[in-house]
Amino acid sequence: MFIGAIADDLTGASDLSLVLSRSGMKVVQVVGIPAPDLATGDADAVVISLKSRTIPAAQAVEQSLASARVLLALGAQQIIFKYCSTFDSTDQGNIGPVTEALMQLLGETRTIACPAFPANGRRVYRGHLFVGDQLLSESGMKDHPLTPMRDANLPRVLQRQCNLPVSLVPHEVVADAAALQAALDRLEGIAVVDALTDADLRAIGQAARNMRLVTGSSGVALGLPDNFLRGDVRSPGPALRVSKGGAVILAGSCSGATRGQVAKALAADVPAFRVDAMDIAEGRISVAEVLDFVLSARSGTPPLVYSSANPASVQAVQSRLGRDRSGSLVEEFFGTLASDLLRQGVNRFVVAGGETSGAVVTALRVRALQIGPEIAPGVPWTCTPDRKLALALKSGNFGADDFFLKAWDLLP
Ligand code: ADP
Repeated sequence: MFIGAIADDLTGASDLSLVLSRSGMKVVQVVGIPAPDLATGDADAVVISLKSRTIPAAQAVEQSLASARVLLALGAQQIIFKYCSTFDSTDQGNIGPVTEALMQLLGETRTIACPAFPANGRRVYRGHLFVGDQLLSESGMKDHPLTPMRDANLPRVLQRQCNLPVSLVPHEVVADAAALQAALDRLEGIAVVDALTDADLRAIGQAARNMRLVTGSSGVALGLPDNFLRGDVRSPGPALRVSKGGAVILAGSCSGATRGQVAKALAADVPAFRVDAMDIAEGRISVAEVLDFVLSARSGTPPLVYSSANPASVQAVQSRLGRDRSGSLVEEFFGTLASDLLRQGVNRFVVAGGETSGAVVTALRVRALQIGPEIAPGVPWTCTPDRKLALALKSGNFGADDFFLKAWDLLP
């Protein structure tokens, strides 16, 4: 085993697993902290998905340390802490506190923070994170229900979460291999690293080969497998085949991309049920009602159940219920719905939203996932090792408008 990874949400874990497996690594993805005697076979990398992005920082630290200890016991030589390419966090954490705790566990005095993911339009320049053409703070992320991002200056954002010094490795240094190596070798504390292209990320991965801990989005992993495999590239796993069954799309993300995908599905006449958070809170809607809708939907593109709403609606709900309660209420609704659907023979799920995916997978009692074909950058089809359940877990902001329509083409 070469690489052990801890992802702070489930869609991030599949995204990272996809990058590692595309680089030739045999990857095992597990949900939650596994037992220390986890059977990993001949895996090159083990990716643990937590649901620790928005829980209290102390709990995120505790779960991440427990995960790292298991990965080290399994023989991991390098640990990746994977978080969102939009740096989803608050001033309380959890990126900073988890990074510092992992550094301490590993006896490291330096690491990098590298959230860039150019294939999805996330680039970091002079420490500022861009989402497409917009600064993070001007993108839809400023209105995220749980982690609104209102500052694009990542060294400043991260320093508010950290005790260790946070510095910047600017792009002109990243573009010069010798300068980059020197900068990382003499680093003290945590450095946000600029990256605009996959070539930058590969160079960063190479320069970070001696770091026991690297942190960032899945992009930071682009250059890491080569440090271990050295050209010994294995063929990717077999195409994903699962037993026959019903299918559904569950969208609990309120991100711009997901709202676009919902709009596209509605325009294409996909059978759809809108779940209103206040209706859940006040008992005007039940899981049984939505279950009936899904099970009675006509054939064609599978039915869509969505709570996705615009920032004004989300804010209205949050001002009445509170941020955490409205989030968990909707997540629990989707979790219960998913497990009821599974009992009724639905075994193919497209899920939009990181937290939402975590809730669904927990409710479905999924413990491990294998990585299948890539639907969109950062989003693979996955299946359980027994091949009874297929899941496409999409980070809210990933995928083109037709994602809900096209994802099914890759599932035999
Ligand atoms: P993303 O990947 O876009 O961040 P997540 O699923 O991680 O999506 O987060 C969305 C959060 O918003 C979840 O906690 C979800 O339960 C909550 N949520 C979903 N729909 C609504 C709504 N209509 N009102 C308020 N909160 C909502």
